[in-house]
Amino acid sequence: MVRVPVPQPIATLPAGVMHLHSPIVPQRIGLFGGTFDPPHVGHLVTAVNVRHALQLDVVILMVANVPWQKVGTRPITDAHARLAMVEAAVADVDGLSAGRAEIDHGGHSYTADTLEFLSQQHPGASLFTIVGDDAASKIESWERYEEVATRSTLVVVDRPGDPVELPAGFGWERVEVPRLDVSSTDLRDRCRDGRPLDYLVTEPVLEVIRSRALYEEAQ
Ligand code: ATP
Ligand code: MG
Repeated sequence: MVRVPVPQPIATLPAGVMHLHSPIVPQRIGLFGGTFDPPHVGHLVTAVNVRHALQLDVVILMVANVPWQKVGTRPITDAHARLAMVEAAVADVDGLSAGRAEIDHGGHSYTADTLEFLSQQHPGASLFTIVGDDAASKIESWERYEEVATRSTLVVVDRPGDPVELPAGFGWERVEVPRLDVSSTDLRDRCRDGRPLDYLVTEPVLEVIRSRALYEEAQ
């Protein structure tokens, strides 16, 4: 028997967006992938500003199931806990949604696969892959990176620090966003040291961190 895969919802899109009979069908979709361990204001400021600048219908903060390039470098928080934090971060934010397709898919998370999935779910939509410049500089290490560039417009935002060189041969679209010197690495350290996370993550994210006692153990 041939099993036909049932399309899974890729994200908790804003009300109505995913509904077949809805007049609102997303035509311009931003894919902002990450480990989000935890999601912070740098991610949110980037997502809302890129959405605004490029007039995207939605930006999906796609939670990597297994961020294979980070495996072995440090312990990674359980994917569902990271998803819970991203859901808390985007709840009530217009045009941002939490993506769970990579978790549902399982295994290593490759942006090329996710873009293929999104284009199947939204035929005809224009896709935008959003990355910080640190991630952009390493795009050639991604699985099937050429496919990422053909399936989507690559959008890069600068992070604070020394400018990095973007790999040549890609049509990078640069969007200026406020540069916030915030990283998940620093936030995990803060948590373990008992330093405040206030204003670096939103209050609902802080609640998830507290209620699940995340980032408390020394690494
Ligand atoms: P870590 O320190 O654990 O690597 P991170 O803060 O870099 O965490 P990631 O989940 O690795 O967050 O990043 C997901 C995406 O968000 C990447 O494209 C990254 O470049 C981008 N990003 C992360 N922090 C910022 C920030 N402060 N401003 C703009 N983009 C950011
Ligand atoms: Mg990072």
